Amino acid sequence: MSAPDPFCFADDLGPARIIHVHEPGIGLRGTLVVDNVARGPSIGGLRMAPDVTTEECFRLARAMSFKNAAAGIPHGGGKSVLYGDPKMPADEKEQLIRAMACALGDCSDYIFGPDMGTDETCMAWVRDEIGRSVGLPRELGGIPLDEIGATGWGLAAAAEVAAPARGVDLSGARIVVQGFGSVGIHAARFLSEKGAVVVAVSDSRGAIADEAGLDVEALAALKATGKSVADAGSGRAIDPDELIAVPCEIWIPAARPDVIHEKNVDRLDTRIVLPGANIPITPAAEQTLHERGVLYLPDFIANAGGVICAAMEYAGSSQGAAMDAIEEKIRDNTAAVLARCHEQGVLPREAAVSLARERIETAMQTRRWSIF
Ligand code: NAD
Repeated sequence: MSAPDPFCFADDLGPARIIHVHEPGIGLRGTLVVDNVARGPSIGGLRMAPDVTTEECFRLARAMSFKNAAAGIPHGGGKSVLYGDPKMPADEKEQLIRAMACALGDCSDYIFGPDMGTDETCMAWVRDEIGRSVGLPRELGGIPLDEIGATGWGLAAAAEVAAPARGVDLSGARIVVQGFGSVGIHAARFLSEKGAVVVAVSDSRGAIADEAGLDVEALAALKATGKSVADAGSGRAIDPDELIAVPCEIWIPAARPDVIHEKNVDRLDTRIVLPGANIPITPAAEQTLHERGVLYLPDFIANAGGVICAAMEYAGSSQGAAMDAIEEKIRDNTAAVLARCHEQGVLPREAAVSLARERIETAMQTRRWSIF
C-alpha cells in the first residue's frame, strides 16, 4: 500500500502543520490541522465523531482561516478532530479529551473551541490541562454565546446595514425565521426591537404565520418549556414547506444546511436572505437569487457573532464589550462586502472570500515565515 501524499492539501495559504496524536493505552487517535496563523493564533473547534478524517479536518481548518479573517478577529484558522463516539461513557470521554489536550499542549498556535460532539464542559477540561480554550462555562470566564444571543445580535447588526442598501426600512420590515432555536429566537427578538415585524416562524415540529405579527417573547417563553411554535395557539398553522413562500423583506434560515436549493429558490418572496445557519443555500440557488436582485449575505459574514464572541472571551473581555465588538465588526464587514459587490459587480460570497483572502495575505507579508 502506498502512503498518501502528506502534502496533498498544501497550497499558498497552508496548512502550516498537521499533527496526528495517538495513545494506544486509552484508544486516543486525533488530528490537529493548523492552517494559517499569519493573523494570530488559530481558533477552531474540536470535533468528536467516529468517522472524522484528516481531509475533513483540513477543510474545516481552512474554513476557519477565512471565517476568522472575514470576521476581523486577530486569529488564524485551525481545527482538531478526535476519533470516537461523543456519547461514550462520560469518564471515558473526559479521559480522551484530557489526553488530546495534553498531546497537543505544546501547539501554542492552536486554541481549542467547542464543535460537534464537544461542549463547554469539554473546554473546561482542556483549559484545566493546558490553559488554552474558548467556549468555557461562565464560572471560568466564558461568555455563554447562545444564552446572550451573540449570533442573533450580529444578524440584527448585519440587517441594519443591508436593509437600507436594498431600499428596505427595517422599521416595519417583515421577517420570516426558519428554525426558532438559539440563533433564530435572538435574531427575531433583536430585529423586533428595531421595529421589524416577525410574520412567520418554524421549528422541527411545525410552522405558524401571522401577517399582523407574531409575539416573539411569548413564543420564546413557550420554546423554553420545550414546546413547539406549533403549540402556541396563536397565528395560523402552515405547512413548514410553505414557509419559504411567505412574503417578507428578510428571510432568515437558522436551522439546517442546504435548505434553499434549485427546486425551491423561485418560491422565495423576499428582498434579503440573512443566514443564521451555516451553508443554508446551494451555489446555484445563490446565483439565481443574485440574478433576481435578492441579496444573500454570506453566512460567514452574517453569522460571525459566535466567533467574535469567542475571540473576545479569549482576550478576557466582558460580555458587554463582546456585544459591542460583534455589532461593530459585523456592521463594518457587511458594509465592506456590499461596497465590493457594487464596485466589482461580483456575488457577495466572492466579495467576502476576496476580502478575507486579502486580510490573510496582508498579514502574511508582515511575517518572516508567511503562514506560521
Ligand atoms: P438550535 O438547536 O438552538 O436551534 C435550531 C432550531 O431549528 C430548533 O428550533 C429546531 O427545532 C429547528 N429545526 C431543526 N430542523 C428544522 C427544519 N427542518 N425546519 C425548521 N426548523 C428546524 O441551534 P442554533 O444554535 O440556533 O443553530 C442553528 C444553526 O445556526 C445551525 O446550523 C448552526 O450550525 C448555525 N450557527 C449557530 C451559531 C450559534 O451561535 N449557535 C453560530 C453560527 C452558526
